[in-house]
Amino acid sequence: MPVQVTSEELYHMGFIKAHQVNGPLKRVAQKLIKAGYIKSYNARTRLFRLKQRENGDCVFLMENRLCSIYENRPSICRGFPFNGARPGYCPSQRTKQVQKVMQNSSLKNKSIHKKSKTKF
Ligand code: SF4
Repeated sequence: MPVQVTSEELYHMGFIKAHQVNGPLKRVAQKLIKAGYIKSYNARTRLFRLKQRENGDCVFLMENRLCSIYENRPSICRGFPFNGARPGYCPSQRTKQVQKVMQNSSLKNKSIHKKSKTKF
């Protein structure tokens, strides 16, 4: 699944400068395509599509299956696994961390649900 990002996200990812965020994005896109970071730019939606490898992996996914820009990853990736890139597409070790967070939030929800049941 291709990951699409805005120019603001490209700024947070460290690929463009602040003054370029609202600048002529076609020119920005040309530079980023040449650098190998993005595959294309849609002028109508103003979204950039991150480049993928031949096997469909994101270009920022390293051989060890970890994201090379994890701390600055786009917002769609931050929602993983609830939305965004398909399971197995993003770092597996991070996925374990996400599963732990999900498990904890599930336990909290059960606890809240239990408390609310006892009140009524
Ligand atoms: S989290 Fe995954 S899809 Fe998102 S930028 Fe990193 S490697 Fe690419």
